[in-house]
Amino acid sequence: MRYRNKIISLIAFILAFSIFLGGCGKKEDKEPLSKTEFMMDTVMTIKLYDKKDEEVLKKAFNRIKEIEDKMSNTIENSYIDKINKNAGKAPIEVDEEVYNLLVKAKKFAELTDGAYEPTIGPLVELWNIKGEGKNDKHTIPKEEDIKKALDKVDYKKLELLDNNKVLLKDKGMKLDLGGIAKGYAGDEVKKVLEENGVKHAIIDLGGNIYALGSKEGDKSWKIGIQNPKEERGSYVGIVEVKENAVVTSGDYERYFEVDGKRYHHIIDSKTGYPSDNELSAISIISKSSTDSDALSTALFVLGREKGAKVLSKLEDTEVLYITKSGKVYISNGMKDKFTLKNPNFDLKINEYK
Ligand code: ADP
Ligand code: MG
Repeated sequence: MRYRNKIISLIAFILAFSIFLGGCGKKEDKEPLSKTEFMMDTVMTIKLYDKKDEEVLKKAFNRIKEIEDKMSNTIENSYIDKINKNAGKAPIEVDEEVYNLLVKAKKFAELTDGAYEPTIGPLVELWNIKGEGKNDKHTIPKEEDIKKALDKVDYKKLELLDNNKVLLKDKGMKLDLGGIAKGYAGDEVKKVLEENGVKHAIIDLGGNIYALGSKEGDKSWKIGIQNPKEERGSYVGIVEVKENAVVTSGDYERYFEVDGKRYHHIIDSKTGYPSDNELSAISIISKSSTDSDALSTALFVLGREKGAKVLSKLEDTEVLYITKSGKVYISNGMKDKFTLKNPNFDLKINEYK
């Protein structure tokens, strides 16, 4: 009898242990293979939920580095650096992908009447919100310096010539692709992952998110929308998407404050100052991470009313605005996709069409 009891408890133990192990195994299966790197001036994380192959992650980050080396205006001898140094002098031949992205950048500048402004460089440099080198004390630039810089900002003087040649017409002009390059990198990483057989992944390039495919079991991904008033990782609500880019811009990313007023890194090309309206953050949801990036910058400057006019010309593009006073305005198409999680915010349907 005692012997039988022992056997029964042994079997029970083995069963419990294997269920425990099985449980562990399953959990491990669900855990993504994740890698984080600092590139393009921001923290980037890629999470693979299937085809968990370190080599694929490596290829993805190599691709981002390649894009940064071509498109950064602070990396010596990048294509953009060469174009800037030859402003008002000579056209520079660039490669196909840089040329194509410049064509797109100019298109978004035209569409948004310069709210997205790829030649914003002189103003970005003058304000130096990042605080390296010149103006590292973070003072408000002098009015006359702002005027001078404004004179050097005009996408109409970005000439995209034959044979992939690019010229900035006036001396002192500067391209700055900070408002579109991360988005472009997102679309390119998506391609790398797909080419390597990945079907389910989250690509988060410093707030430029691409949700690849679906979550396991064809479920939607849940993407947290950052609370602009709190530390990173605290959310206003959740957007549920499959195969979509969710790109966010905000006044909380990089800024300095003088007399209680916030001077952030998105500049209004009409005034020469950081944009100043009711908005604190914006997210654009569309199939293209590049487009969402340019639009998030533009609509942050334009605000909800003018932003609606831009959106009316585009298909399958949704928006979520967060105001300084704690209102969350979503476009109609977001009704079934967004859930408010933070009771300090007030959810509304955007009335501008
Ligand atoms: P983030 O870089 O935080 O994702 P954005 O996509 O809005 O935010 O890009 C902001 C960057 O774009 C700035 O750091 C600057 O390099 C550049 N930029 C600033 N103002 C503009 C503008 N009006 N149009 C285009 N690019 C801009
Ligand atoms: Mg942007």
